[in-house]
Amino acid sequence: MYNSRKKPMEEIAEEMTAIWSCTNETCNGWMRDNFSFSSNPTCPQCQSPMEKGEKKLAVLVNTNPRRNGE
Ligand SMILES: [Zn+2]
Repeated sequence: MYNSRKKPMEEIAEEMTAIWSCTNETCNGWMRDNFSFSSNPTCPQCQSPMEKGEKKLAVLVNTNPRRNGE
């Protein structure tokens, strides 16, 4: 598949994604479940324990691993 044409408006699909969110009320740290390598991660910002949750996020599509012009 080639992406030779640039679409003027690309629709960004969103879906509920499994995430970990920080349990510290004063911290808004969170991470995608995909990106955590531990079953019990700690917050990268404040080292608090994290709890599993869901967040509506843009779907990551791996169609083009190479990015030009950045
Ligand atoms: Zn935190």
